[in-house]
Amino acid sequence: MTEAGVTDRIDLLGLDRPALVALCRDWGEKPFRGQQLMRWVHRRFESDFEAMSDLARGFRETLQARARLSAPAVVSDHVASDGTRKWLLDVGQGNAVETVFIPEVSRGTLCISTQAGCAVNCLFCSTGKQGFARNLEAGEIVGQLWLANRLLGARRAEAAAAAAAAGGGEDEAPDDHDRIITNVVFMGMGEPLLNYDATVTALRIMLDDHGYGLSRRRVTVSTSGVVPMIDRLRDDMPVALAVSLHAPNDALRDRLVPLNRKHPLAELMGACRRYLERAPRDFVTFEYVMLDGVNDGDEHADQLLALVRDVPCKFNLIPFNPFPGADLRRSPPERIKAFAQRLSDAGIVTTVRRTRGDDIDAACGQRAGDIVDRTRLAQRGERRRVAIARA
Ligand code: SAH
Ligand code: SF4
Repeated sequence: MTEAGVTDRIDLLGLDRPALVALCRDWGEKPFRGQQLMRWVHRRFESDFEAMSDLARGFRETLQARARLSAPAVVSDHVASDGTRKWLLDVGQGNAVETVFIPEVSRGTLCISTQAGCAVNCLFCSTGKQGFARNLEAGEIVGQLWLANRLLGARRAEAAAAAAAAGGGEDEAPDDHDRIITNVVFMGMGEPLLNYDATVTALRIMLDDHGYGLSRRRVTVSTSGVVPMIDRLRDDMPVALAVSLHAPNDALRDRLVPLNRKHPLAELMGACRRYLERAPRDFVTFEYVMLDGVNDGDEHADQLLALVRDVPCKFNLIPFNPFPGADLRRSPPERIKAFAQRLSDAGIVTTVRRTRGDDIDAACGQRAGDIVDRTRLAQRGERRRVAIARA
């Protein structure tokens, strides 16, 4: 068999199980080889086909000649003093995206990107300011999870677990407490629902028991409100949903989130209600960036309460992360507190995000990273700094 050039080889990272099974069939292999392959790639994070010891030699040679596993290349890798780790990944033609790992005591969250740049162009977002470059492919999206697992040392842990299970047949899916990455949030660069097909393929691989085996509740898609695609996601792959609300009325939201002109608030609330019929959680999380003097008044909180009256929800208030050239300011802490209190007093669970990874510029939004709920941490008295495994 002649060796294909590297780029001619098929990238296995973006293939879900049905696609791997079909590929094996095309190559004259038994369909169950597809499942085996998936476990090697997404459970053991193996990149070397030769090391896939239970595959027949001939099949390994086929893979060597015709397939590849290419996650995006790491441009930089920073660890903040709070353990938050940020990778900048090269996705070609001068474009880079970010992936951020946020370790906490009881979970590890990976924040991933779906597009290089973003066309939605929200007023307060530096990704939007960059404009839109291109959609990431499914392999580049799931590749962030694959790569992070390898770099965080999950590969060794998986190998040890598999060795321990040897003789017991198939390696079992790791329990949540054994995992390093327990949660995935689509809150990095880009609008996931404007790169729908690749996002759903990546989700399928993340949820597959032969892949990452993550539960729907532990994977969150965040959207600026692409109404028709919220409906499609509900039918195709209903994972936890976060909606970037940011304003309580159409006039203000038109300005902050330009997509609102196409899909105004009434439509968006309808989509949220429909989504909840299938969602793995019985609430939608509304994200709300706190902008001084823009959307943070008591009157805005009251309008919000009226707006979400019929939508079971929680609120996550995000202190604005300033970036060069942004003509906006973060609301003062006492304003954020008062706003949160007003929503809580009306019976809505409201949290304020604690900024993570400040010293490496890994704060959420444009530099996704502050996923932690400060209130809850304070209540539990959990330690703020958590050591993370090194690759
Ligand atoms: N495009 C999707 C997901 C990526 S943005 C979305 O908009 O939901 C993830 C979250 O970070 C969104 O809630 C977004 O509004 C917020 N965000 C963007 N820029 C921010 C900034 N400068 N400060 C705080 N939050 C920001
Ligand atoms: Fe795009 Fe989300 Fe940024 Fe808006 S907030 S520009 S949708 S990445």
